[in-house]
Order: sequence, then C-alpha cells, then structure tokens
Amino acid sequence: MKLINHFIDGKEFLGNSKRFGKVFNPATGEQTSEVRLASKSDVDQAIEVAKKAFLEWSVKPPLQRARVMFKFKELIEKNSDELTKLIVSEHGKVYEDAKGSLTRGLEVVEYACGIPQMLKGEFTENVGGEVDSWSTRQPLGVCAGITPFNFPAMVPMWMFPMAIACGNSFILKPSEKDPSCSMRLAELLKDAGLPNGVFNIVNGDKEAVDALINNKEVVAISFVGSTPVAKYIYENSAKNEKRVQALGGAKNHCVVMPDCDLDQAVNGLMGAAYGSAGERCMAQSVAVAVGGVADKLVKSLAKKVEALKVGPGMDKKSEMGPLVTKEHLAKVKSYVDIGEKEGAKLIVDGRNLKLQGYESGYYMGGCLFDHVNKDMRIYKEEIFGPVLSVVRTKNFDEALKLVNDHEFGNGVSIFTRDGDTGRTFSNKAKIGMVGINIPIPVPMAFHSFGGWKRSLFGDHHMHGPEGVRFYTKLKTITSRWPSGLRSDPEFVMPTMK
Ligand code: NAD
Repeated sequence: MKLINHFIDGKEFLGNSKRFGKVFNPATGEQTSEVRLASKSDVDQAIEVAKKAFLEWSVKPPLQRARVMFKFKELIEKNSDELTKLIVSEHGKVYEDAKGSLTRGLEVVEYACGIPQMLKGEFTENVGGEVDSWSTRQPLGVCAGITPFNFPAMVPMWMFPMAIACGNSFILKPSEKDPSCSMRLAELLKDAGLPNGVFNIVNGDKEAVDALINNKEVVAISFVGSTPVAKYIYENSAKNEKRVQALGGAKNHCVVMPDCDLDQAVNGLMGAAYGSAGERCMAQSVAVAVGGVADKLVKSLAKKVEALKVGPGMDKKSEMGPLVTKEHLAKVKSYVDIGEKEGAKLIVDGRNLKLQGYESGYYMGGCLFDHVNKDMRIYKEEIFGPVLSVVRTKNFDEALKLVNDHEFGNGVSIFTRDGDTGRTFSNKAKIGMVGINIPIPVPMAFHSFGGWKRSLFGDHHMHGPEGVRFYTKLKTITSRWPSGLRSDPEFVMPTMK
C-alpha cells in the first residue's frame, strides 16, 4: 500500500512518529494509502528547516521569487491532468469540478507572479523640509497553513503562493483525508527552482497542528476548516502572539425573488447546492423563497434533484460524486433524519441511493427539504452535504433579516431582475461575499476571499491584496540626508512649519 510521508527540506521525510492515518478512494470505499501523522518533534524539525531557508529566501529580489512562480504555473498546467486525478481519487468530486478548483488555485499563482509590483510601496518626497518618507512591505518569517479536505489543491494554493512570493518560508499541514495533491505540488515547486526548505509539508492531525501553533518560531497561521477548529486556532495562535486568519464554516443562503428568471435561479441553485456533493464552503444550502415564488421553485427543483446523475468522479456522465468518507456520509444522512423529526417536509430523499458496481462507495442522492424554519437544526447548522433547505418568507425584508441573523456570514446570493432590490441587498447583507444573479460568488485571485461573522476569525481575507497584507509587515522609513550639521537638537514633536 502507498505510504504518504512528509516533505521537508526539498525531500520526503519519514520522521519518528509511529502513528498513521488511512486514505480512501470515496468512489469505491477502498483504502488506497496510509499517511504519516507527524509528532511534535517532526513538526519542530520542519520549523527549523523553514527558519533557516527564510534567511536567504527573504532577501532574494522579488523578481527572482516571481520567476519561480512563473515556472511553477507552467508545471501545474503541464501536470494538470495528474493533479486533477489525485484530487478525484481522494476527495471524490467529479473530474471537471476538480479541474476547475485546480484552475482557481493556479490563478493565485498567476497573481503571485506580479509580486514585484505589489511590494513596491509608497514614497513621499519632502514630508518635511528635505525629509523623505517611504514605506515597504517585508516578509514575516516562517508561516504555516492548515487546510480542510474539501479543496485539496485550491485552499492550500490560496495561501502558499502568496506567502512564498512575499518572501516567507511556509509549512503546510494538509487535510489527512486527501494529502496526495499537496505532496505533488511540493515536488513541482522544487522543480520550478524553489530552494529547499522554503516550502514544506507535515502530514498529520491535531498533534501536528498544536505543534505549529505553539512553536514561537512560526509567526503567522492561515487556517481554513470548520468553525469550532477555526476558533480554537484563532484563540491559541493569538495567545502565542502570532498573526492569524482562520476561516470557518458556512450556511449560505440564496434569496429567490418573485421577479427573477426562475430557470436561471433553479439552475444556479442546482450547481451551488449539489455540485461537489455540497462539500463547498460556498455551497448554497438554504433557498429563501420570497412571496409567491415558493411552490414553483420547489416543483422545479424537485424534478431536477430527482434527475441528478450521481456516480464516480471519473465517470464523465456524473454530475455529483460521492462524499469524502463513510463517517461524513453517515453524518449528512443523520441530518436528513433530524430534519424529518423536526417537521420539515422532505420532498426528495436521496438517503437510500445505491450504485451498481460501487456498493461500497460513499454515495447518496440529493435531498430537498421544504418548509424549513429558522429554529430547526438543519437550518442553523452546517451539514456540508447535498441537502438543500427551502425557507419561505413573506417579503424581501424578512429574507434579508434571516440572512443577517444567521451566525455564519460566508457567501450569499440573490436572484432578481430589479436593480434596486439587488443593490439594497448587497449593501445591507452582513456577509463577506455577495452574488447578484451569481450563485457562487467566489472572488477571483486578484480580489480576496473571506466571510464575516463566525465564518472568519481574524482581520484579513485570503489571497489578492489582502494576501499581500497578511504575509508582510509594513515598515515606514523617514530619512534626511543633511549636507552638513545645520541646527541644534529639537525636543518637540516635529510638525510641518
Ligand atoms: P476540519 O475543521 O475538521 O479540519 C480542518 C483542518 O484542521 C484539517 O487539516 C484537520 O486536520 C485540522 N483539525 C481538525 N480537528 C482539529 C482539532 N481539534 N485541532 C486542531 N486541528 C484540527 O474541517 P474539514 O472537515 O476538513 O473541512 C470542512 C470544513 O471546512 C467545513 O466546515 C467548511 O465550511 C470549511 N471550509 C471553509 C472554507 C472557508 O473559506 N470559509 C473553505 C473550505 C472549507
């Protein structure tokens, strides 16, 4: 059986831990590999290596760092089929969707190629008589990223291309459920000319994460995952005086107005609720039907949910693949049981789907609930599976209040033909990413990604300009070059005379 090691100092690293995790192919239920779960001492060794590598990497001209990114971009493109298949084989999502997520990661690498422009800083000549002032952004040191299972390439690539291009060294702790794609990316970075030790991977679980957040040599932590872990990472990293951005869970609403193009809204909802089996932090799990649109919406959705083509990710006909693990599948199904007990109306029940030839795979069909209300657990909690809840509201104000009262604030969409409604909604929604007639409003690489409320702990969103801010420190230098000693010392606060 394949054994997945760590990647430290430009090569595979075995470490001293005797603990292993199991990696499965969700399409078949077969175990495909074992992954090492790092001990504290394994992580400490990675940190030492990254600390040493930082010394040289941080003073390389930004243009040279950008050239590594250009080469890395080429290598990802060249190897995209292999990388995509690695994602499918361990996460389960369908091939084209996996390829799309890889492309989203690649776009961050493309953005990072422009790092010399982004680190230029600002200059003011003559802030005072013959005094000039300029600001510069300098790298932080050893940064670490801890990532979830649902985007094994894209989410790590929200982080490390920006961190490295800014001049930091980086340690990635990928999800132990699907670590292979990250390992391949590490090899490609090395082939792209990245010096050893600048990018490292420790595989592992809580023990590895705790070793990263407790080591004082790690100066910044980027985290993406569930809200309870995000909060834990945020609090403990901050306690250890680190800079931290910790992105958490979500419950994204899609407000469907009576005046909208209903076909467009239904198609948008289908992709956003059931794409990637609902295992996306930007998945839409709540459709808010406003006014008289509800019956038509539910009828139209039901037909499409029943017709969803569920199958292995490598089958071109599949629209939705399996869930990531047996345990996660059981958890999602148990939420459907809860919804029924709570009194929501189960319109489409996908719990009993079985696929011939793939009986041990982690499949279920799409589920659709109607008449869900705000006090139900299936409304309040993140399910992270192919389950869509329809909540009915009388009017726009009630819909907006529902969105704003929810504890999560990652993404939201509205479908309407009315500009005033769309604008008011985007202005008043207390949510980090808003779509108007766009079902999954994931910002492009040159903007920044992040939610509000309990979907993000910290101040900085990921990649784009926020990525540069997170991975650098601002320094402002004020200088004077006197041609000779012209005055006596001054003891008052300098001001413009
Ligand atoms: P998770 O929180 O279980 O795991 C995320 C990472 O944290 C993994 O690397 C894991 O090994 C580690 N971890 C798990 N438990 C830990 C603990 N107790 N202490 C320290 N580290 C721990 O999340 P997941 O199941 O891998 O991913 C799904 C979650 O991620 C969902 O909640 C989803 O909404 C969220 N997510 C959010 C975003 C976003 O941008 N906001 C993006 C993708 C996924």
